[in-house]
Amino acid sequence: MLDLTVIPASGATLPEVRINRHLIGGAFVPSPAEPGPAPDGDSGWIERLSPSHGTVVSRTPVGTIQLAEAAIAAARAAFDDGRWSALSGKARAAVLLKVAELIEANTDRMALIETLESGKPITQARGEVSGAADLWRFAASLARTLHGDSHTSLGPDMLAVVLKEPIGVVSIITPWNFPFWILSQKLPFALAAGCTCVVKPSELTPSTTVILGELLLEAGLPAGVVNVVLGYGQPVGATLASHPSVDMVTFTGSTAVGRGIAAAASSTLKKVALELGGKNPQVIFPDADLESAADAVVFGVYFNVGQCCNSGSRILVHQDIAEAFTARIVELSRQVAFGDPLDPATQVGAIVSREHGAKIDAHVAAARRAGATVALGGKALEVPGLGPQFYQPTILTGVTPDMAIAREEVFGPVLAVLTFRTLDEALTLVNDGDYGLSAGVWSENIHTCLAFARGAQAGTVWTNTWMDGFPEVTFGGVKQSGLGREIGRQGLDEFMEIKSLVMRIGRTRAPWVRPR
Ligand code: NAD
Repeated sequence: MLDLTVIPASGATLPEVRINRHLIGGAFVPSPAEPGPAPDGDSGWIERLSPSHGTVVSRTPVGTIQLAEAAIAAARAAFDDGRWSALSGKARAAVLLKVAELIEANTDRMALIETLESGKPITQARGEVSGAADLWRFAASLARTLHGDSHTSLGPDMLAVVLKEPIGVVSIITPWNFPFWILSQKLPFALAAGCTCVVKPSELTPSTTVILGELLLEAGLPAGVVNVVLGYGQPVGATLASHPSVDMVTFTGSTAVGRGIAAAASSTLKKVALELGGKNPQVIFPDADLESAADAVVFGVYFNVGQCCNSGSRILVHQDIAEAFTARIVELSRQVAFGDPLDPATQVGAIVSREHGAKIDAHVAAARRAGATVALGGKALEVPGLGPQFYQPTILTGVTPDMAIAREEVFGPVLAVLTFRTLDEALTLVNDGDYGLSAGVWSENIHTCLAFARGAQAGTVWTNTWMDGFPEVTFGGVKQSGLGREIGRQGLDEFMEIKSLVMRIGRTRAPWVRPR
């Protein structure tokens, strides 16, 4: 008897297989399975099987270097002739607002395909798609209010203004874990700035990006302003990262690929923004509201089956409460509903692929060998009527800071429990690692929370909460968790170039050349 909460197959009817197409220069490119000429050099199809249901969800053409170059050329032409960048902020905002409206109107069909491609629960997918519409709305507000700076204290005969101009053509490369949400953390901000874009979604979850392409055309976005090329990192992503006509590449994904992208971009010194991995700690002090903390720990580690850059995959619990607190999170973990993503009651769905499931298992096996104890889970989960493409909620105790499970990103529903005695010790443990995406602290003492927040090396620190986010509040990592910031006002600035304009008023400057 597993004593977990498992939601069996709901028997929901699955939709027809979706056929995706590249979007270049305002038109969807015909592909070999359809009437009309095949695009030059097209090299086949990716068939995406639903990780939860095992059936074909979508077919996606594999992009080539030629297609990536055609998309970059379309974005370059669209930027250079000013068809988007020269519009007023008001005109750009109007299109972004229309897109937000269309996203909301299409939430159900987008959420369904996102669920089937990624394995995430349908209720969560609906929340992500409709929440993304709000990112588009917020970006629209930035398009209207964006402005530079003026220097009015340089003396009566001088005036300087700092102009903000769109950086140009932006390559956007996204991962599979939050396909539409992450795209919406980047694309509307780039568009608000006046940039043009080439997008490459993950080969595992391309469909909502292509649907968005349809919505962009419907909203009246000029041709070539957003282009979508489908396929793999090699050669499509690599071409987008290295091509001389691209001015910036923004990437979300693994740290290893991010490093490669920074290296590829260095040949033309283009701007690079990276949102990478994390090994994010929640630190629990004895004076915390322990029931809220336990709930947040369980949410932090199982949300999106732990396939989340912000996964709270390690906790540091004060030694005095470690045993009781761990017992409580084991108890709560048993109540989290794992199972069929199409059942609205499900909170945690399937692992994205068999290969990734095997990687999660290897991390747990290595932790066992290193001396950690499996307090709960530790293996694949067979969901009645669906199969084994799921993983049990897993809690590892007796973890020491030197173990790989305390330091490496697992990207699965696996929690490493460590202990500490003092705030200083907790901060040392928090900061002892390669990553710095997010960190959290639980205490009723404001001094403890503030000292922690100031000392933690992380792009975001949560106090007495976990993973709350807002379009207004910027997001990003330090150390090997990334470069640059997304969303918020800073998320717009990433896509802008700064130009200083220095002006003399009147002919007051003494000549440099002294008359002979
Ligand atoms: P990944 O790095 O394997 O792939 C991400 C994207 O890069 C995909 O579109 C892929 O096709 C493309 N790609 C692969 N090789 C490439 C290459 N050589 N050149 C250019 N593009 C290439 O990541 P993933 O497995 O899709 O996502 C999981 C990772 O993403 C995790 O490490 C996670 O922490 C990270 N992530 C970070 C954040 C964040 O905001 N910090 C958010 C979500 C996910």
